[in-house]
Amino acid sequence: MSTANSKYTFYETVGYYFDKAAKYTPFDEGILEQIKACNHVLRMRFPVRLGKDLDRIEVVEAYRVQHSQHKTPCKGGIRYSEDVNQDEVMALASLMTYKCAIVNVPFGGAKGGIKVNTKKYTELELERITRRYTAELVKKNFIGPGIDVPAPDYGSGEREMGWIADTYMAMRAGEIDGLGCVTGKPVSQGGVRGRKEATGLGVFYGIKELCKHEEIMKKAKLAPGVEGKTVVVQGLGNVGFHSAKFFRQGGAKVIAIAEFEGAIMNPNGLNEDEVFEHRKRTGSILNFPGATNLEKSGDALELECDILVPAALENVITQDNAPKIKARIIAEAANGPVTVEADEILTQKGILVVPDIYLNAGGVTVSYFEWLKNLSHVRYGRMEKRFTENMNAHIVSQMETLTGQKIDAAEKDHILRGADEVDLVYSGLEETMITSLKDILHTMAEHPDIENMRTAAFVLGIKKVGMSYRELGIFP
Ligand code: NAD
Repeated sequence: MSTANSKYTFYETVGYYFDKAAKYTPFDEGILEQIKACNHVLRMRFPVRLGKDLDRIEVVEAYRVQHSQHKTPCKGGIRYSEDVNQDEVMALASLMTYKCAIVNVPFGGAKGGIKVNTKKYTELELERITRRYTAELVKKNFIGPGIDVPAPDYGSGEREMGWIADTYMAMRAGEIDGLGCVTGKPVSQGGVRGRKEATGLGVFYGIKELCKHEEIMKKAKLAPGVEGKTVVVQGLGNVGFHSAKFFRQGGAKVIAIAEFEGAIMNPNGLNEDEVFEHRKRTGSILNFPGATNLEKSGDALELECDILVPAALENVITQDNAPKIKARIIAEAANGPVTVEADEILTQKGILVVPDIYLNAGGVTVSYFEWLKNLSHVRYGRMEKRFTENMNAHIVSQMETLTGQKIDAAEKDHILRGADEVDLVYSGLEETMITSLKDILHTMAEHPDIENMRTAAFVLGIKKVGMSYRELGIFP
């Protein structure tokens, strides 16, 4: 089932990139076959009673795919969309395996999907669907803090994760680590501060780090640094909204935002908060004060800009529009936004594509922090915050005594402050994005004939998964 604009399905696309990268790894065919394969595919059809008076039964199609158990639990979001299908969920689960490996998150890859148009259901109906889906996963032993840990994806968020945690814990009463069965929960239900914005923040950290590399920027015909760069964002959902926010706060200018109904453009920059409020109030992104409307949403992808951030769905950059893309960097916030054919065109054009399996890993990285928090049953910072502050106060007071000078009050507050949970989460995420980029660039340097960052990222991911199999003694 290839798409209209590619001869490859999404799952075949991931396989294509895998095969291209596999020849740079030391593994023989059998090992590669195991790394590439989707281990478990669960396809469900379950009835849910819906409607205002619960007088209608609907049969819902849903999936959970566990691509790899080289590390457990396996992990990946749950997509709510009417376009969900088995091929898509298998592709997304495979990407999760390499993504986790690249950012050194000790999980296997998985993904879920529920084939529903969320706009057609009430909150109560979505809750009933989510709880039934969770019950199906529990029945099949496809969820649990040591088995498989879902998270949010397209069409789902904190609310759905809260329902999943509640259903799981009701069915597995007394399980001490039960809260670790899902991540992306509300903070009041065991979530971690910083998870909601984590994917967008990771996108920003990754691009900011890349922009520091003068030789890479020179090749992309850009000046170093993220400040002053023009950015176009597609999709004003969780990932797109937060990517836009952090780019704007980091000194870049978000000159266009695209949504389903169209796109808006303002060369002086858009504020994502105001655009979001406008869309909520009017029901459309269009006619935002001071901005120009682009009736065809896809036209935004072809605007003159430095950084294009597709943050909606897969297959949006194809052989049809790739030749018209003017951005110098494509920051893959979404999973699989570029088709195989488009990827080749972009590489030939010298456009730097920063691949999804690295760039949008902020979500799973902070999900890992949340899972650790759930297993340790303690909030980050609780043990050391006060100790750090007391110690800093002592150091500052000694400095003042020894120098005979007083430190400015605002500066003192800054020095004394111990880390809160969100500080530690941001710091862990930034470190992860910086280190993983270094690893990808190192892989590229090791193999000078690797043509782009995507292949290098796949090489790195495959090597790490293969090494884990070796450590487990499964392969020599
Ligand atoms: P979301 O549901 O919060 O938002 C997606 C937005 O994109 C919606 O507002 C939707 O209206 C818009 N959209 C859909 N099709 C569009 C189109 N053709 N043009 C313009 N806008 C369009 O979803 P999300 O969580 O932000 O996920 C977006 C992408 O990021 C997906 O590919 C997802 O797999 C990936 N991702 C998400 C996370 C996460 O933590 N949520 C982590 C990693 C990757």
